[in-house]
Amino acid sequence: MSFKSVIVVGGGLAGLIASIRLTRAGIACTLIEKKNYPFHRVCGEYISNETMPFLKREGFFPDVFSPPVINQFQLSSVSGKSTKLSLDLGGFGISRFTLDNLLYQQALQAGVNFVLEQEVDSISFLDREDCFTVRTSLQEFSTSLVIGAFGKRSRMDSALKRGFIQKRSPYVGVKYHIRTNHPANLIALHNFNGGYCGVSNIEDGKTNLCYLVHRNQVKRFKAIREMEETVLFQNPFLKSIFQSSEFLFDKPETINEISFETKEPVLNHILMAGDAAGMIAPLCGNGMAMAIHTGKIASDLIIQAKTENRSRAWLEAAYADCWTSTFAARLRTGRLIQNYLFGSAWSSRVAVNLAVHSTWLANQIIKKTHGVTF
Ligand SMILES: Cc1cc2nc3c(=O)[nH]c(=O)nc-3n(C[C@H](O)[C@H](O)[C@H](O)COP(=O)(O)OP(=O)(O)OC[C@H]3O[C@@H](n4cnc5c(N)ncnc54)[C@H](O)[C@@H]3O)c2cc1C
Repeated sequence: MSFKSVIVVGGGLAGLIASIRLTRAGIACTLIEKKNYPFHRVCGEYISNETMPFLKREGFFPDVFSPPVINQFQLSSVSGKSTKLSLDLGGFGISRFTLDNLLYQQALQAGVNFVLEQEVDSISFLDREDCFTVRTSLQEFSTSLVIGAFGKRSRMDSALKRGFIQKRSPYVGVKYHIRTNHPANLIALHNFNGGYCGVSNIEDGKTNLCYLVHRNQVKRFKAIREMEETVLFQNPFLKSIFQSSEFLFDKPETINEISFETKEPVLNHILMAGDAAGMIAPLCGNGMAMAIHTGKIASDLIIQAKTENRSRAWLEAAYADCWTSTFAARLRTGRLIQNYLFGSAWSSRVAVNLAVHSTWLANQIIKKTHGVTF
Protein backbone atom coordinates (compact mmCIF):
# COMPACT_ATOMS: atom_id res chain seq x y z
CA MET A 1 0.00 0.00 0.00
CA SER A 2 1.50 3.32 -0.93
CA PHE A 3 0.28 6.07 1.35
CA LYS A 4 1.46 9.54 2.19
CA SER A 5 -0.02 10.40 5.55
CA VAL A 6 -2.11 9.32 8.54
CA ILE A 7 -4.60 11.38 10.51
CA VAL A 8 -5.30 10.36 14.11
CA VAL A 9 -8.59 11.67 15.50
CA GLY A 10 -8.38 12.02 19.30
CA GLY A 11 -5.32 12.50 21.48
CA GLY A 12 -5.82 10.20 24.47
CA LEU A 13 -3.43 7.32 25.13
CA ALA A 14 -4.31 5.33 22.00
CA GLY A 15 -3.98 8.33 19.65
CA LEU A 16 -0.81 9.74 21.22
CA ILE A 17 1.00 6.37 21.23
CA ALA A 18 0.04 5.57 17.63
CA SER A 19 1.02 9.02 16.34
CA ILE A 20 4.44 9.05 18.05
CA ARG A 21 5.32 5.59 16.73
CA LEU A 22 4.18 6.34 13.18
CA THR A 23 6.10 9.62 13.09
CA ARG A 24 9.21 7.96 14.48
CA ALA A 25 8.91 5.40 11.66
CA GLY A 26 8.94 8.20 9.08
CA ILE A 27 5.19 8.30 8.35
CA ALA A 28 3.76 11.85 8.37
CA CYS A 29 1.10 12.02 11.06
CA THR A 30 -1.41 14.68 12.08
CA LEU A 31 -3.30 14.36 15.36
CA ILE A 32 -6.55 16.31 15.76
CA GLU A 33 -7.69 16.78 19.37
CA LYS A 34 -10.67 18.86 20.46
CA LYS A 35 -9.06 19.99 23.75
CA ASN A 36 -5.63 21.42 24.65
CA TYR A 37 -3.04 19.77 26.91
CA PRO A 38 -2.78 19.36 29.84
CA PHE A 39 -6.28 18.48 31.02
CA HIS A 40 -8.02 16.18 33.50
CA ARG A 41 -10.13 13.21 32.42
CA VAL A 42 -12.48 10.95 34.33
CA CYS A 43 -10.30 7.88 34.89
CA GLY A 44 -9.14 5.76 37.86
CA GLU A 45 -5.52 6.36 36.76
CA TYR A 46 -4.32 2.86 37.71
CA ILE A 47 -2.31 1.36 34.82
CA SER A 48 -1.84 -2.39 34.61
CA ASN A 49 1.77 -3.58 34.47
CA GLU A 50 0.98 -5.48 31.27
CA THR A 51 2.06 -2.19 29.63
CA MET A 52 5.36 -1.89 31.53
CA PRO A 53 7.83 -3.60 29.09
CA PHE A 54 6.38 -1.66 26.15
CA LEU A 55 6.36 1.71 27.94
CA LYS A 56 9.96 1.23 29.11
CA ARG A 57 11.17 -0.01 25.70
CA GLU A 58 9.71 2.98 23.92
CA GLY A 59 10.76 5.57 26.53
CA PHE A 60 7.10 6.29 27.48
CA PHE A 61 7.28 5.20 31.14
CA PRO A 62 6.90 8.25 33.41
CA ASP A 63 9.96 7.45 35.65
CA VAL A 64 10.48 11.12 36.39
CA PHE A 65 7.21 11.21 38.41
CA SER A 66 8.09 8.07 40.44
CA PRO A 67 4.57 6.61 40.08
CA PRO A 68 3.56 4.45 43.08
CA VAL A 69 3.86 0.68 42.59
CA ILE A 70 0.49 -0.99 43.26
CA ASN A 71 0.43 -4.71 44.12
CA GLN A 72 -2.42 -5.14 46.64
CA PHE A 73 -6.14 -5.20 45.91
CA GLN A 74 -8.94 -4.54 48.40
CA LEU A 75 -12.56 -5.28 47.61
CA SER A 76 -15.37 -4.18 49.92
CA SER A 77 -19.11 -4.83 49.82
CA VAL A 78 -21.79 -2.17 50.34
CA SER A 79 -21.91 -2.94 54.07
CA GLY A 80 -18.12 -2.77 54.40
CA LYS A 81 -17.16 -6.48 54.42
CA SER A 82 -13.77 -6.58 52.79
CA THR A 83 -10.99 -8.80 51.54
CA LYS A 84 -7.44 -8.09 50.39
CA LEU A 85 -5.34 -10.02 47.91
CA SER A 86 -2.00 -9.67 46.18
CA LEU A 87 -2.06 -8.74 42.53
CA ASP A 88 0.14 -11.07 40.42
CA LEU A 89 0.82 -8.48 37.78
CA GLY A 90 -0.11 -5.27 39.60
CA GLY A 91 0.24 -1.81 38.19
CA PHE A 92 1.19 1.80 38.90
CA GLY A 93 -0.63 5.08 39.41
CA ILE A 94 -0.24 8.26 37.39
CA SER A 95 -2.73 11.01 36.60
CA ARG A 96 -3.90 11.46 33.01
CA PHE A 97 -3.15 15.18 33.40
CA THR A 98 0.53 14.24 33.78
CA LEU A 99 0.80 11.15 31.58
CA ASP A 100 -1.05 12.49 28.54
CA ASN A 101 0.90 15.74 28.74
CA LEU A 102 4.19 13.82 28.92
CA LEU A 103 3.23 11.87 25.78
CA TYR A 104 2.09 15.09 24.10
CA GLN A 105 5.55 16.61 24.73
CA GLN A 106 7.18 13.48 23.30
CA ALA A 107 4.90 13.63 20.26
CA LEU A 108 5.87 17.25 19.63
CA GLN A 109 9.54 16.28 19.85
CA ALA A 110 8.98 13.35 17.46
CA GLY A 111 7.42 15.76 14.93
CA VAL A 112 3.71 14.89 15.13
CA ASN A 113 1.68 17.69 13.60
CA PHE A 114 -1.00 18.75 16.14
CA VAL A 115 -4.31 20.40 15.37
CA LEU A 116 -5.65 21.31 18.80
CA GLU A 117 -8.98 22.72 19.99
CA GLN A 118 -10.72 21.53 16.85
CA GLU A 119 -13.37 18.82 16.82
CA VAL A 120 -13.65 16.48 13.85
CA ASP A 121 -17.20 16.60 12.44
CA SER A 122 -16.91 14.10 9.62
CA ILE A 123 -14.62 11.49 8.13
CA SER A 124 -15.47 10.28 4.61
CA PHE A 125 -13.72 7.66 2.56
CA LEU A 126 -13.59 8.46 -1.17
CA ASP A 127 -13.51 5.13 -3.04
CA ARG A 128 -12.37 6.49 -6.37
CA GLU A 129 -9.47 8.50 -4.95
CA ASP A 130 -8.73 5.81 -2.32
CA CYS A 131 -8.32 8.43 0.40
CA PHE A 132 -10.20 10.17 3.25
CA THR A 133 -11.52 13.66 3.76
CA VAL A 134 -11.50 14.71 7.42
CA ARG A 135 -13.39 17.88 8.39
CA THR A 136 -13.50 20.14 11.41
CA SER A 137 -15.60 23.32 11.45
CA LEU A 138 -12.46 25.29 10.48
CA GLN A 139 -10.41 23.02 8.22
CA GLU A 140 -10.53 20.17 5.73
CA PHE A 141 -7.78 17.55 5.41
CA SER A 142 -7.05 14.85 2.86
CA THR A 143 -5.22 11.72 4.01
CA SER A 144 -4.52 8.10 3.06
CA LEU A 145 -5.37 6.57 6.44
CA VAL A 146 -7.39 7.47 9.55
CA ILE A 147 -7.07 6.08 13.06
CA GLY A 148 -10.23 6.75 15.10
CA ALA A 149 -8.97 7.22 18.67
CA PHE A 150 -11.82 9.45 19.82
CA GLY A 151 -12.59 7.63 23.05
CA LYS A 152 -15.71 6.17 24.62
CA ARG A 153 -18.28 8.56 23.16
CA SER A 154 -17.74 11.20 20.52
CA ARG A 155 -19.57 13.33 18.02
CA MET A 156 -17.89 11.01 15.47
CA ASP A 157 -19.89 8.02 16.75
CA SER A 158 -23.12 9.82 15.81
CA ALA A 159 -21.66 10.98 12.49
CA LEU A 160 -20.73 7.36 11.68
CA LYS A 161 -24.18 6.17 12.89
CA ARG A 162 -22.62 3.53 15.13
CA GLY A 163 -25.09 1.07 16.67
CA PHE A 164 -24.17 1.64 20.33
CA ILE A 165 -24.85 5.39 20.13
CA GLN A 166 -28.54 4.79 19.35
CA LYS A 167 -29.04 3.29 22.83
CA ARG A 168 -28.94 5.36 25.99
CA SER A 169 -26.32 4.23 28.46
CA PRO A 170 -27.02 4.51 32.18
CA TYR A 171 -23.53 4.99 33.61
CA VAL A 172 -22.05 8.19 35.02
CA GLY A 173 -18.36 8.58 35.98
CA VAL A 174 -17.10 10.96 38.73
CA LYS A 175 -13.47 11.68 39.63
CA TYR A 176 -11.58 13.58 42.34
CA HIS A 177 -7.96 13.99 43.35
CA ILE A 178 -7.61 13.97 47.11
CA ARG A 179 -4.96 14.02 49.83
CA THR A 180 -5.58 11.20 52.25
CA ASN A 181 -3.87 8.47 54.18
CA HIS A 182 -4.12 5.71 51.54
CA PRO A 183 -1.45 2.95 51.43
CA ALA A 184 0.77 3.58 48.38
CA ASN A 185 0.68 -0.03 47.13
CA LEU A 186 -3.09 -0.56 47.42
CA ILE A 187 -5.91 -0.25 44.91
CA ALA A 188 -9.31 -0.45 46.59
CA LEU A 189 -12.67 -1.11 44.98
CA HIS A 190 -15.45 -0.10 47.35
CA ASN A 191 -18.99 -0.99 46.33
CA PHE A 192 -22.14 0.97 47.04
CA ASN A 193 -25.76 0.67 45.91
CA GLY A 194 -25.78 1.38 42.18
CA GLY A 195 -22.03 1.63 41.70
CA TYR A 196 -18.43 1.15 42.74
CA CYS A 197 -15.58 3.45 43.66
CA GLY A 198 -11.86 2.94 43.00
CA VAL A 199 -9.23 4.48 45.29
CA SER A 200 -5.50 4.37 44.48
CA ASN A 201 -2.49 6.62 44.67
CA ILE A 202 -0.95 8.64 41.85
CA GLU A 203 2.11 10.92 41.65
CA ASP A 204 3.07 13.60 44.23
CA GLY A 205 1.46 11.73 47.14
CA LYS A 206 -2.02 12.35 45.75
CA THR A 207 -4.86 9.81 45.62
CA ASN A 208 -7.38 9.25 42.85
CA LEU A 209 -10.97 8.63 43.93
CA CYS A 210 -13.16 7.72 40.96
CA TYR A 211 -16.54 6.07 40.83
CA LEU A 212 -19.07 4.74 38.36
CA VAL A 213 -22.72 5.11 39.30
CA HIS A 214 -26.05 4.29 37.71
CA ARG A 215 -27.87 7.36 36.38
CA ASN A 216 -30.99 6.43 38.41
CA GLN A 217 -29.05 6.96 41.65
CA VAL A 218 -27.84 10.41 40.49
CA LYS A 219 -31.36 11.46 39.46
CA ARG A 220 -32.70 10.87 42.99
CA PHE A 221 -30.66 13.77 44.38
CA LYS A 222 -30.31 17.49 43.75
CA ALA A 223 -26.52 17.45 44.03
CA ILE A 224 -23.70 14.94 43.72
CA ARG A 225 -22.57 15.63 47.29
CA GLU A 226 -26.04 14.74 48.59
CA MET A 227 -25.92 11.42 46.69
CA GLU A 228 -22.45 10.70 48.05
CA GLU A 229 -23.53 11.34 51.63
CA THR A 230 -26.70 9.27 51.30
CA VAL A 231 -25.55 6.40 49.10
CA LEU A 232 -21.74 6.09 49.07
CA PHE A 233 -21.45 6.75 52.81
CA GLN A 234 -23.36 3.50 53.50
CA ASN A 235 -20.03 1.82 52.84
CA PRO A 236 -17.99 2.68 55.97
CA PHE A 237 -14.73 2.72 53.98
CA LEU A 238 -16.08 5.39 51.65
CA LYS A 239 -17.59 7.41 54.48
CA SER A 240 -14.25 7.49 56.26
CA ILE A 241 -12.30 8.46 53.11
CA PHE A 242 -14.74 11.23 52.15
CA GLN A 243 -14.81 12.63 55.68
CA SER A 244 -11.09 12.55 56.38
CA SER A 245 -9.59 13.70 53.04
CA GLU A 246 -8.67 17.01 51.50
CA PHE A 247 -10.41 17.36 48.11
CA LEU A 248 -8.15 19.06 45.57
CA PHE A 249 -10.63 19.99 42.80
CA ASP A 250 -13.22 22.78 43.16
CA LYS A 251 -15.73 20.37 41.67
CA PRO A 252 -15.46 16.78 40.43
CA GLU A 253 -14.73 15.82 36.83
CA THR A 254 -17.81 14.02 35.50
CA ILE A 255 -18.92 12.20 32.36
CA ASN A 256 -22.16 10.47 31.51
CA GLU A 257 -23.52 8.01 28.95
CA ILE A 258 -20.63 5.56 29.36
CA SER A 259 -21.32 2.54 27.16
CA PHE A 260 -19.81 -0.95 27.25
CA GLU A 261 -21.66 -2.14 24.12
CA THR A 262 -19.79 -3.99 21.37
CA LYS A 263 -18.19 -1.73 18.75
CA GLU A 264 -16.38 -2.35 15.46
CA PRO A 265 -12.55 -2.33 15.36
CA VAL A 266 -12.72 -1.22 11.70
CA LEU A 267 -15.56 0.89 10.29
CA ASN A 268 -15.76 2.74 6.95
CA HIS A 269 -12.03 1.91 6.50
CA ILE A 270 -11.17 3.72 9.78
CA LEU A 271 -8.97 1.72 12.19
CA MET A 272 -10.54 2.25 15.62
CA ALA A 273 -8.19 2.33 18.62
CA GLY A 274 -8.66 2.51 22.40
CA ASP A 275 -12.21 2.99 23.72
CA ALA A 276 -13.42 3.86 20.19
CA ALA A 277 -12.94 0.15 19.33
CA GLY A 278 -14.49 -1.14 22.57
CA MET A 279 -14.53 -0.09 26.20
CA ILE A 280 -13.87 -2.50 29.04
CA ALA A 281 -15.70 -1.98 32.35
CA PRO A 282 -13.59 0.35 34.55
CA LEU A 283 -13.64 -2.08 37.48
CA CYS A 284 -11.24 -4.27 35.43
CA GLY A 285 -8.66 -1.47 35.69
CA ASN A 286 -7.12 -1.99 32.26
CA GLY A 287 -8.84 0.29 29.75
CA MET A 288 -5.68 2.39 29.58
CA ALA A 289 -3.55 -0.73 28.99
CA MET A 290 -5.90 -1.66 26.14
CA ALA A 291 -5.73 1.86 24.70
CA ILE A 292 -1.92 1.79 24.80
CA HIS A 293 -1.89 -1.71 23.28
CA THR A 294 -4.24 -0.81 20.42
CA GLY A 295 -2.08 2.26 19.66
CA LYS A 296 0.88 -0.11 19.38
CA ILE A 297 -0.95 -2.70 17.26
CA ALA A 298 -2.38 -0.10 14.85
CA SER A 299 1.00 1.61 14.35
CA ASP A 300 2.86 -1.73 13.99
CA LEU A 301 0.49 -2.93 11.27
CA ILE A 302 0.47 0.39 9.41
CA ILE A 303 4.29 0.39 9.37
CA GLN A 304 4.26 -3.24 8.18
CA ALA A 305 1.70 -2.45 5.43
CA LYS A 306 3.88 0.38 4.17
CA THR A 307 7.16 -1.56 4.35
CA GLU A 308 5.74 -4.69 2.66
CA ASN A 309 3.53 -2.75 0.26
CA ARG A 310 0.35 -4.50 1.50
CA SER A 311 -3.15 -3.52 0.38
CA ARG A 312 -5.68 -1.51 2.42
CA ALA A 313 -7.84 -4.68 2.59
CA TRP A 314 -4.89 -6.59 4.11
CA LEU A 315 -4.31 -3.87 6.72
CA GLU A 316 -7.97 -3.71 7.74
CA ALA A 317 -8.30 -7.52 8.01
CA ALA A 318 -5.01 -7.87 9.92
CA TYR A 319 -6.02 -5.14 12.39
CA ALA A 320 -9.55 -6.53 12.94
CA ASP A 321 -8.17 -10.08 13.47
CA CYS A 322 -5.46 -8.95 15.86
CA TRP A 323 -7.88 -6.73 17.83
CA THR A 324 -10.46 -9.52 18.15
CA SER A 325 -7.99 -12.21 19.22
CA THR A 326 -6.31 -9.89 21.75
CA PHE A 327 -9.28 -8.14 23.35
CA ALA A 328 -12.72 -9.60 22.52
CA ALA A 329 -12.82 -12.28 25.27
CA ARG A 330 -11.60 -9.79 27.90
CA LEU A 331 -14.32 -7.32 26.99
CA ARG A 332 -16.99 -10.02 27.19
CA THR A 333 -15.90 -10.98 30.72
CA GLY A 334 -15.76 -7.33 31.78
CA ARG A 335 -19.30 -6.80 30.44
CA LEU A 336 -20.57 -9.86 32.32
CA ILE A 337 -19.14 -8.68 35.65
CA GLN A 338 -20.41 -5.16 35.04
CA ASN A 339 -23.91 -6.55 34.36
CA TYR A 340 -23.84 -8.56 37.60
CA LEU A 341 -22.81 -5.51 39.58
CA PHE A 342 -25.47 -3.30 38.03
CA GLY A 343 -28.08 -5.97 37.17
CA SER A 344 -29.99 -5.52 40.43
CA ALA A 345 -29.24 -4.74 44.05
CA TRP A 346 -29.60 -8.48 44.71
CA SER A 347 -27.17 -9.65 41.98
CA SER A 348 -24.69 -6.96 42.98
CA ARG A 349 -24.80 -8.04 46.63
CA VAL A 350 -24.39 -11.72 45.72
CA ALA A 351 -21.54 -11.04 43.25
CA VAL A 352 -19.55 -8.82 45.62
CA ASN A 353 -20.12 -11.05 48.65
CA LEU A 354 -19.00 -14.12 46.66
CA ALA A 355 -15.80 -12.35 45.58
CA VAL A 356 -15.20 -10.96 49.08
CA HIS A 357 -15.47 -14.47 50.54
CA SER A 358 -13.59 -16.30 47.80
CA THR A 359 -10.06 -15.15 47.05
CA TRP A 360 -9.96 -17.80 44.32
CA LEU A 361 -12.98 -16.27 42.54
CA ALA A 362 -11.63 -12.73 42.88
CA ASN A 363 -8.30 -13.91 41.42
CA GLN A 364 -10.04 -15.63 38.50
CA ILE A 365 -11.94 -12.43 37.70
CA ILE A 366 -8.69 -10.43 37.70
CA LYS A 367 -6.96 -13.03 35.47
CA LYS A 368 -9.81 -13.20 32.97
CA THR A 369 -10.02 -9.43 32.53
CA HIS A 370 -6.28 -8.80 32.18
CA GLY A 371 -3.96 -9.48 29.30
CA VAL A 372 -0.32 -10.50 29.30
CA THR A 373 2.65 -8.16 29.12
CA PHE A 374 3.53 -6.82 25.68
C1 LIG B 1 -15.00 5.96 35.73
C2 LIG B 1 -13.86 5.38 34.93
C3 LIG B 1 -12.73 4.89 35.59
C4 LIG B 1 -11.68 4.33 34.85
N1 LIG B 1 -10.58 3.86 35.51
C5 LIG B 1 -9.58 3.28 34.84
C6 LIG B 1 -8.43 2.78 35.51
O1 LIG B 1 -8.25 2.95 36.72
N2 LIG B 1 -7.48 2.14 34.78
C7 LIG B 1 -7.59 1.97 33.43
O2 LIG B 1 -6.70 1.38 32.83
N3 LIG B 1 -8.66 2.47 32.76
C8 LIG B 1 -9.64 3.11 33.42
N4 LIG B 1 -10.72 3.63 32.75
C9 LIG B 1 -10.75 3.50 31.28
C10 LIG B 1 -9.80 4.49 30.60
O3 LIG B 1 -10.01 5.79 31.09
C11 LIG B 1 -10.02 4.47 29.09
O4 LIG B 1 -10.07 3.13 28.65
C12 LIG B 1 -8.92 5.20 28.35
O5 LIG B 1 -8.92 6.56 28.71
C13 LIG B 1 -9.12 5.10 26.84
O6 LIG B 1 -8.16 5.89 26.18
P1 LIG B 1 -8.46 6.40 24.70
O7 LIG B 1 -7.18 6.93 24.18
O8 LIG B 1 -9.16 5.35 23.91
O9 LIG B 1 -9.55 7.55 24.88
P2 LIG B 1 -9.52 8.92 25.68
O10 LIG B 1 -8.43 8.94 26.67
O11 LIG B 1 -10.92 9.14 26.15
O12 LIG B 1 -9.16 9.99 24.55
C14 LIG B 1 -10.03 10.28 23.49
C15 LIG B 1 -9.72 11.70 23.01
O13 LIG B 1 -10.44 11.98 21.82
C16 LIG B 1 -10.85 13.36 21.85
N5 LIG B 1 -11.98 13.48 20.93
C17 LIG B 1 -13.19 12.89 21.00
N6 LIG B 1 -13.95 13.18 19.94
C18 LIG B 1 -13.19 13.98 19.14
C19 LIG B 1 -13.42 14.63 17.89
N7 LIG B 1 -14.59 14.46 17.22
N8 LIG B 1 -12.44 15.40 17.38
C20 LIG B 1 -11.25 15.55 18.04
N9 LIG B 1 -10.98 14.97 19.24
C21 LIG B 1 -11.94 14.19 19.76
C22 LIG B 1 -11.20 13.60 23.31
O14 LIG B 1 -11.14 14.97 23.67
C23 LIG B 1 -10.12 12.77 24.01
O15 LIG B 1 -8.99 13.55 24.35
C24 LIG B 1 -11.76 4.24 33.44
C25 LIG B 1 -12.87 4.77 32.78
C26 LIG B 1 -13.91 5.33 33.51
C27 LIG B 1 -15.10 5.89 32.78
